[in-house]
Amino acid sequence: MNSVLTFHEVSDGRWFDDLVKWLQGQYRLLPAEYVSELYSGSGIRHGCHITVDDGHRSFYDVILPVLKRHRIPATLFVSPSVCAERTNFWFQELQGCDERAVRAAAAVVLNVPPMALAPFSTTSICKAMPLCDVESILRRCRTAGHQSRPQNVTVEELRALAKSGLVTIGAHTISHPILKNECDDRSEEEIVRSIADLATLLGRDVKYFAYPNGLPDIDFSEREEAYLAGAGVELAFTTESRDIRASDTRYRVPRIQIAPNEEIGRIRTKLRFPGAWNLLKKLRPHGEYAERRALSRILSMSSRTSQSV
Ligand SMILES: [Zn+2]
Repeated sequence: MNSVLTFHEVSDGRWFDDLVKWLQGQYRLLPAEYVSELYSGSGIRHGCHITVDDGHRSFYDVILPVLKRHRIPATLFVSPSVCAERTNFWFQELQGCDERAVRAAAAVVLNVPPMALAPFSTTSICKAMPLCDVESILRRCRTAGHQSRPQNVTVEELRALAKSGLVTIGAHTISHPILKNECDDRSEEEIVRSIADLATLLGRDVKYFAYPNGLPDIDFSEREEAYLAGAGVELAFTTESRDIRASDTRYRVPRIQIAPNEEIGRIRTKLRFPGAWNLLKKLRPHGEYAERRALSRILSMSSRTSQSV
């Protein structure tokens, strides 16, 4: 069984070190160039590639020392603009906002009664909107006195990572929208410009891309795959949580998400039964998948009602 794993922020270096040592006993930990061979019938068994999304600075401070200690390759997906301009992604800025104000503003934007949004997290609510609406809500709902500090790696750190010989850098859009919520032009620009700007910044071609949030047909569609093909991307990674199959296509590489400090016993079960784990994730009544499906039903009912008035 071959797998690609995905991490985000990692704060506990000892946990990550223990996990990497355990993975080394189970898998051949391979660099990004081998991923296409994991499902192309090359005969690789128990191959695994580590990926990390967003470029939180814990990659540089916590993950990189462990990768270096064990000589393990990984791919980091970043926004070139967020690194260059020392800004944060919308979901990082959401932490500094007044939750009640976000819900109230979102109810107006989405044209639903505020009570309709009560069961959902503010993150799921924002994932139902185009990014221009999310950014407008963030500007209006910032908690008084909140200081927004840059949370992600700098350009200098990114260049050092690219030169480390262990880390491949891939693109993750400009501003991390849910691409499926955006119009054609904005979705294409987020993809194409992130790849071109990152290539300029690093002085090398960018061959890999990870979809923000990454759920096929919920966060992106065939439209985005066409933009990636046009931009010359070789592989695009999703968050469809399962092992790699021979039938997978290069613009829908599945990845199994590992949560910070997740117990190794639990990770072992997840990696051994990824299909069952994926199904459980989708059925979990309060998980993101269920929340976003329920929210999407409410929004489509609301738009039908307003159209028929
Ligand atoms: Zn991301």
